[in-house]
Amino acid sequence: MDVEKNVLCITREEAEKKLEGLKNRKCRVCGCTQDHACPGGCYWVEDDLCSKCAGTEQIQEIAEG
Ligand SMILES: [Zn+2]
Ligand SMILES: [Zn+2]
Repeated sequence: MDVEKNVLCITREEAEKKLEGLKNRKCRVCGCTQDHACPGGCYWVEDDLCSKCAGTEQIQEIAEG
């Protein structure tokens, strides 16, 4: 019998990739990043949306399958 690999276990490489992704996150509206936040500062309310834009942008719900 074939033994399926358990993909639930995350590898160190994958974890580092994820962390890098978090560091490189960028606001989809204003384009601010972790290093270059909005004037006055902002924080992430979504993976790609900062607090400054969350209040001004009308969040469009995209139906994704
Ligand atoms: Zn923003
Ligand atoms: Zn921002």
